[in-house]
Amino acid sequence: MPAQLISGTALSQRIRADVARRTAALAARGIKPGLAVVLVGDDPASAVYVRNKVKACAEAGLHSVLERYDASLSEADLLARIRALNADPAIHGILVQMPLPRHINPQRVIETISTAKDVDGYSVQSAGDLMAGLPGFRPCTPFGCMKLIESTGIDLRGKHAVVIGRSNTVGKPMALLLLQAHATVTICHSATPDLGVHTRQADVVVAAVGRRNTVTADMVKPGAVIIDVGMNRNDDGKLCGDVDFAGVSPLAGWITPVPGGVGPMTITMLLVNTLESAERTTI
Ligand code: NAP
Repeated sequence: MPAQLISGTALSQRIRADVARRTAALAARGIKPGLAVVLVGDDPASAVYVRNKVKACAEAGLHSVLERYDASLSEADLLARIRALNADPAIHGILVQMPLPRHINPQRVIETISTAKDVDGYSVQSAGDLMAGLPGFRPCTPFGCMKLIESTGIDLRGKHAVVIGRSNTVGKPMALLLLQAHATVTICHSATPDLGVHTRQADVVVAAVGRRNTVTADMVKPGAVIIDVGMNRNDDGKLCGDVDFAGVSPLAGWITPVPGGVGPMTITMLLVNTLESAERTTI
């Protein structure tokens, strides 16, 4: 039997409807969740990403501000803007779109965002909170992957999960979230000699590499849950993931498509984090 599709588009719609409901409830009490999106420079892909984030905020009833700066903005001026946003009570989440121009140190920028407004979950404090199992903002992409896995109804306790990729923004937090859900977790990366040895034992595979056809049918255990984070282009220029979807889906139990899988969930979890940041101000 072919795999069941895990639609990030459909799950996003359900979660965003819940975000809109909770946002309206907060607004009725005089608090409108607010997200500040900061873009420095004119990278066209970044411009699309920030526009989509601002649009998603508007659709769910959140307040958002988009601050666009020329690529020549100094690091000191950017840090000053972030400090001002930290102090702004109408703003509950701050996102600085990466990559930044080369003269700006991205980690210094991330660490300047107040932990209470770090809705991307990229700061060392947020990473430490995740590591220690403390409350805090979880990075949006792995957080979204967890929601996709949860939507299958599969209990992760005792399952073997293999994460391919160990970036600070996707692979590592993904592995920690799976561990927190009581999976046994293996992390693979570019120095792993034989990925298939690990993935063939996996009940859950999360591929976050950025290289198409990294996971092929011969590497998958029948019935496994396959979450494809990758965003690549195929020979026809079409968006595709890290997983050979056509080859793997007849075998897998569940699989996310690209597009329409992890992608929409990333923005959705940004809305969730911003809303929850605003909700915390009422506690
Ligand atoms: P990244 O920082 O480039 O990390 C890629 C990881 O893959 C690294 O840990 C690297 O290992 C590992 N890797 C590279 N080649 C490998 C190989 N042949 N076998 C096994 N592992 C290998 O990328 P990222 O930011 O984590 O993103 C990963 C992918 O997800 C990209 O395609 C990105 O565009 C996509 N993405 C999608 C979303 C979304 O919303 N859909 C969000 C974020 C990212 P080393 O550490 O050893 O170099």
